[in-house]
Amino acid sequence: MFGRAPKKSDNTKYYEILGVPKTASQDDLKKAYRKAAIKNHPDKGGDPEKFKELAQAYEVLSDPEKREIYDQYGEDALKEGMGGGGAHVDPFDIFSSFFGPSFGGGGGSSRGRRQRRGEDVVHPLKVSLEDLYNGTSKKLSLSRNVLCSKCKGKGSKSGASMRCPGCQGSGMKVTIRQLGPSMIQQMQSACNECKGTGESINEKDRCPGCKGEKVVQEKKVLEVHVEKGMQHSQKITFPGEADEAPDTVTGDIVFVLQQKDHSKFKRKGDDLFYEHTLSLTEALCGFQFVLTHLDNRQLLIKSNPGEVVKPDQFKAINDEGMPMYQRPFMKGKLYIHFTVEFPDSLAPDQCKALEAVLPPKPTSKLTDMEIDECEETTMHDVNNIEEEMRRKQAHAAQEAYEEDDEMPGGAQRVQCAQQ
Ligand SMILES: [Zn+2]
Ligand SMILES: [Zn+2]
Repeated sequence: MFGRAPKKSDNTKYYEILGVPKTASQDDLKKAYRKAAIKNHPDKGGDPEKFKELAQAYEVLSDPEKREIYDQYGEDALKEGMGGGGAHVDPFDIFSSFFGPSFGGGGGSSRGRRQRRGEDVVHPLKVSLEDLYNGTSKKLSLSRNVLCSKCKGKGSKSGASMRCPGCQGSGMKVTIRQLGPSMIQQMQSACNECKGTGESINEKDRCPGCKGEKVVQEKKVLEVHVEKGMQHSQKITFPGEADEAPDTVTGDIVFVLQQKDHSKFKRKGDDLFYEHTLSLTEALCGFQFVLTHLDNRQLLIKSNPGEVVKPDQFKAINDEGMPMYQRPFMKGKLYIHFTVEFPDSLAPDQCKALEAVLPPKPTSKLTDMEIDECEETTMHDVNNIEEEMRRKQAHAAQEAYEEDDEMPGGAQRVQCAQQ
């Protein structure tokens, strides 16, 4: 098959460069490359030679066909063009196929990547405010496609695939429709025989592991670490854990945190807000209460002697807010918002008792004569001022609309009068 028998050459170097054993799985290779490539990226002060070597080693070992040639005959065999590995490898291309072109693509070529990149899979992940305060880890079981290990993603027992006879390997089919005596329409659509892949596998040669599909389903448990201080909509990424497909760089699984509402606390950045209602007596004469924090600690909250808390007042406690992401020993503030509940009415003797202790009323400067000249008024309760304003606005809009409606008729009358 190959013109001449190639001589044996070194076939362990690539494994050593990536620091993996010869039995390493595709996953191991990916992880090893990923780690080493970040460390050695020239933009981060790494050695460009080492960076290039990593890309070359990964490029060969990540391709099952090239890896097999390398394992059997070594690097020289690839250089002789047996697996097409002699082609120039752009280390930045390989790097950006992992991390995207935005990350240190310096010097790299932006024209087409060597391999397609698979789609990222995004899952929302519901977490409580307690989870974000304390940190937690959640185990999630997901099923995904992985390259069939029996056929190394080839789909066939022999590793061979034929050109699809339906489309001659193009993956597309052209159908011609006669529209008229001298008019035809050409329509292109994905080949139905090979589902657009351009190749077909002989029925007898199909891999029994994947039935020629090249991939099989696998259940995988991912452990998602929710760190202290993480935010709503923050992403946790599992690189290269999405569906695998032949000749494709596997996309990422991305979890997006979705914080559930909390019954007591609200979060704004690193701060927490807590609502508390005081009775009028507590607001005037002092209070204390126990606040159960998100880690179940019991905080004693109390007023200073002689202090009066006003309706709508805020108070803050330092370092009892949310822990900061990646600096969990630093915390924001805990704000307490006070609502004061007033009694609906008081009996005359209660008023007297209060007047005796509260600051005196402002004395009226009006004489009886002046008061006699004023008009009497009646006040009624407005329970919800916003609602009342909304109703008024809706009413005004309705009237304006009805006026608009009368316009055409009005205009016509003017026209008639002119004739
Ligand atoms: Zn086809
Ligand atoms: Zn298979």
